[in-house]
Amino acid sequence: MKVSFKDLGLVNTREMFAKAVKGGYAIPAFNFNNMEQLQAIIQASAETKSPVILQVSKGARNYANQTLLRYMAQGAVEYAKELGWKKPQIVLHLDHGDSYELCKSCVDFGFSSVMIDASSLPYEENVKLTRKVVNYAHKYDVTVEAELGVLAGVEDEVSSAVSHYTKPEEVIDFVKKTKCDSLAISIGTSHGAYKFTPEQCTRDKDGKLVPPPLAFDVLKAIEKKLPGFPIVLHGSSSVPQEYVDMCNQFGGKLPNAIGIPEEQLRKAAKSAVCKINIDSDSRLAMTAAIRKHLAENPGHFDPRQYLKPAREEMKKMYIHKIINVLGSNGKAR
Ligand SMILES: [Zn+2]
Repeated sequence: MKVSFKDLGLVNTREMFAKAVKGGYAIPAFNFNNMEQLQAIIQASAETKSPVILQVSKGARNYANQTLLRYMAQGAVEYAKELGWKKPQIVLHLDHGDSYELCKSCVDFGFSSVMIDASSLPYEENVKLTRKVVNYAHKYDVTVEAELGVLAGVEDEVSSAVSHYTKPEEVIDFVKKTKCDSLAISIGTSHGAYKFTPEQCTRDKDGKLVPPPLAFDVLKAIEKKLPGFPIVLHGSSSVPQEYVDMCNQFGGKLPNAIGIPEEQLRKAAKSAVCKINIDSDSRLAMTAAIRKHLAENPGHFDPRQYLKPAREEMKKMYIHKIINVLGSNGKAR
């Protein structure tokens, strides 16, 4: 049986992105695969009145089960209303869909947005597969994110050793032929908590690693070719040093974890970039809080005892991103 996202109270990304591009801010796209994460995302979005994209990766589907995740997203809409958010703007999005069949099943299942990531295929094949997904999704008013260029890093099943920047000369042809609604590009962001090797970085006066800057010239060239078209940045966690330190202080081992500096993302959010993907920062906040709690309370064994501070830490992080990095607060009243 087919389910429409509209019956679940979800929205697609069309209007949301148009407003974000015009308004010079970006929508947070937070991955989720468990209840505490989802509670933290919804509480943060409801309190700040920020539109939000709930992302489900293939790995999350395998971990948590697609049926359960969809009902959780449906529950999230009702929960948001309960929290006093009168008109919640929540998108349920498939992150890195890798086949037509997977995208189709998500469209049929109540997702309001899907990504078809055929960026590892030759250009013409990427166009063909993306077009096929768009043709199906648009019949149900589901929006489609596509990708051109290759991001480095590892995230669930997506991994690449090297990055290839998106070629600005390809974007007009690609968008015209595929009719995708938004485009993920590669300008130097990267998946995971180890975005750069120490060799790729420089060091500041305190010896801290400073990652190479994003290729804003490539972003500018793309914006020029596609004025007003929604652009997406993947792999945009900042890997906050406080969480890395907290993990390491309480028994963890995360040497040289490094992310994208927030001031670079702030700059990107003001451009045509209207969706910024953040996953690793939530993982780090959760793990840091759990490690700390268990180290300080060795007698605790009720998961609620350590998941509560983990949820609070994630919520704090989400609110910080919404207000101080993306600028999406107050945009969904
Ligand atoms: Zn990604």
